[in-house]
Amino acid sequence: MQLSRRALLALATAASLIGAPSFAQDKGTVGIAMPTQSSARWISDGNSMVEQFTAAGYATDLQYAEDDIPTQLAQVENMITKGVNVLVIAAIDGTTLSNALDNAAAAGIKVIAYDRLIRDSGSVDYYATFDNFKVGVQQAESLVKGLNERFPGVKPWNVELFGGSPDDNNAFFFYNGAMSVLQPLIDAGDIAIPSGQMGMDVVGTLRWDGAVAQARMDNLLSANYGDKPLHGALSPYDGLSIGILSSVKGVGYGSGDLPMPIVTGQDAEIPSVKSMIAGEQYSTIFKDTRALAGVTVKMVDAIISGGEPEINDTSTYDNGVKVVPSYLLEPLPVDVTNYEEILVGSGYYTADQLK
Ligand code: BGC
Repeated sequence: MQLSRRALLALATAASLIGAPSFAQDKGTVGIAMPTQSSARWISDGNSMVEQFTAAGYATDLQYAEDDIPTQLAQVENMITKGVNVLVIAAIDGTTLSNALDNAAAAGIKVIAYDRLIRDSGSVDYYATFDNFKVGVQQAESLVKGLNERFPGVKPWNVELFGGSPDDNNAFFFYNGAMSVLQPLIDAGDIAIPSGQMGMDVVGTLRWDGAVAQARMDNLLSANYGDKPLHGALSPYDGLSIGILSSVKGVGYGSGDLPMPIVTGQDAEIPSVKSMIAGEQYSTIFKDTRALAGVTVKMVDAIISGGEPEINDTSTYDNGVKVVPSYLLEPLPVDVTNYEEILVGSGYYTADQLK
């Protein structure tokens, strides 16, 4: 069917009035580099961004690197060569992208660090994330709440500490946030760390690997808990929590006269929410990936239209070269008492997904 120019113009006008998607993909292409699909949260981040960028009129190039640093570097370099308009990167190792990002800057491509700060580069323009120190504070507060509930009157509580991946800047914020709550209790003798293992250089878990956390918990239990029970474990991420819980269950915790220790987490991943419902994992921290995607889309829109993205933090995130202007979202502590309201009520999960 041939349409006259006037008919086409009328259609285009009508379409622009109702925001028809066929005319939508013209604002540019956003390269999105995500770390891995082995954790559900990054899949949600990727899906939310593609959905929201598409609705806002952008094409997307979404790539996952399965936690392999050279793969992510190659993906980012490829996006730069293809001439994406903006790069959104959740780095695997926050220190390995400097050269590629300088090339991006030279090509006029703005770079947004997504969730994880990219370090040692002057070519990072903005940072969209959650209040990472607060995540750690909330994890520790929830650990202490759980210890009080499950082990009232016990002194000291025997606790072990787990940290995230030492190549992820966030891991230090989570740990430092948590220790701001725990250190005073350790100093007061309310909490003991029977292994003596403290500090990110000792308790870090490379690549956030649950199997590594499980093996470390196995070793901690056999070396330090022959004559005393474990009461709690600070875990910074649900994938580690599941490993820690497997380890403690393997030696009988959660049955007989050995109550399950209080184990924290982060990301509200489905296996962990199910574990909370089953009375195993105690808590998690919910970071709404839909909201983080939304902040990122708004940042890109501002950049592309020549404006300034909205930021709410200009002092916290020094990447070694510059303080990166940031937008921080609020994390939310979740446990068995509020998961329905927060996770199901917000439509993040359906009730069926948690059965
Ligand atoms: C993210 C956490 C996540 C962890 C492991 C961190 O950078 O902020 O939400 O649990 O990576 O994927």
